[in-house]
Amino acid sequence: QAVVQKLQDVDASKVVVTLAESLKPVPPPEELVFGQTFTDHMVMVTYDPVNGWGTPEIKPYGPISLDPASSIFQYSTSAFEGMKAYVGPDGKPRLFRPELNMLRMKRSTARIALPAFDADELLKLIKKLVALESRWIPNLKGHSLYIRPTIIGTRPSIGVRASDHAILYVICCPTGPYFRTGPKPVSLLAVGEQVRSWPGGTGEFKLSINYTPTFHPQQLAAEKGYDQCLWLLGEDSHITEAGAMNFFVVVKRDDDHLDVYTPPLDGTILPGLTRASVLTLAAAHPGQTTLPYLPHTLKLHTHERLITMTDLFSWHASGHLTEIFLVGTAAVVATVGRVGFGDKVLEAPKCEGGLGPVARALYDRLTDIQEGKVEFQGWSVPI
Ligand code: PMP
Repeated sequence: QAVVQKLQDVDASKVVVTLAESLKPVPPPEELVFGQTFTDHMVMVTYDPVNGWGTPEIKPYGPISLDPASSIFQYSTSAFEGMKAYVGPDGKPRLFRPELNMLRMKRSTARIALPAFDADELLKLIKKLVALESRWIPNLKGHSLYIRPTIIGTRPSIGVRASDHAILYVICCPTGPYFRTGPKPVSLLAVGEQVRSWPGGTGEFKLSINYTPTFHPQQLAAEKGYDQCLWLLGEDSHITEAGAMNFFVVVKRDDDHLDVYTPPLDGTILPGLTRASVLTLAAAHPGQTTLPYLPHTLKLHTHERLITMTDLFSWHASGHLTEIFLVGTAAVVATVGRVGFGDKVLEAPKCEGGLGPVARALYDRLTDIQEGKVEFQGWSVPI
């Protein structure tokens, strides 16, 4: 009778920590360029089909050596997350709703048939790493430590099938505010010929393969003077998301209340943590418990519904469109100033200080929660 051996899962309690012999100098916050400076250490765990997940390691940051036939190089078997650690008023690092990142990473990993792992154990390893690297988190408003958990397929064979070998690793980089000189409106070029996602595709997962095909359209948008692409889909040119952020539009009603629209999670859109948080904060306004940063007179009503380019232009033409904004971990909230679509250009209403009023209220509220200045539903988790 065959003995079925249970494969080992990730076990954070077994972590082996090897400290770097010398520590790198932390650059001054004003010199930080996103994604270029990495901290001293990283988490690494490897999976093989005989033993399962091996002993987790925290070790000096450095290159990974892989067989050239590895699945990741041939078939882009890679999923990742983007999350941030902030310093609270007590000087301790904290994470923002990290369990949602872990859940999304588990779903992304399953979609490309990489080995499953215990996400609670991964989170424990991330907390250990962040605690070790806390000197890298700039204790300044708008600054944080960006954390990039990644899983790659390392099966050393070019046979076209799922990778039964993997490496799970976590790297971190200190980061400053998205807009260094204060918020400024971003411009979007609506793109419908080269699509980011499609029904039944992988748009709702955080997979490397979703990003690679966006680089070329993004270059074309930049050549035309736009900051980001607005990703459209379908004959009706409906909006999915923009750049690597989720999309919101604010429309004034005849009774002066504000409708806040965002496209529904229909499988073609990445379910952003910031999107979910914004919907929660905006939905309860004007109860004032969740968004006390807006005047009482502004009453918000949230809707997850399809938004077409025709909707956008007609709300604008009738004078009802008050704000367009994007949300995501990187910038938190960014107001859109201009949208190009074919030979048409939509100039969004001007706003003071680079953020529209609803975007500003959400930005202030979210960053206060993230930086631990305001407690809200346990979203900010001290480590
Ligand atoms: N859409 C895409 C395509 C993204 O890469 C991101 C960043 N993860 C987002 C939206 C925003 O998601 P989140 O709020 O979780 O950062």
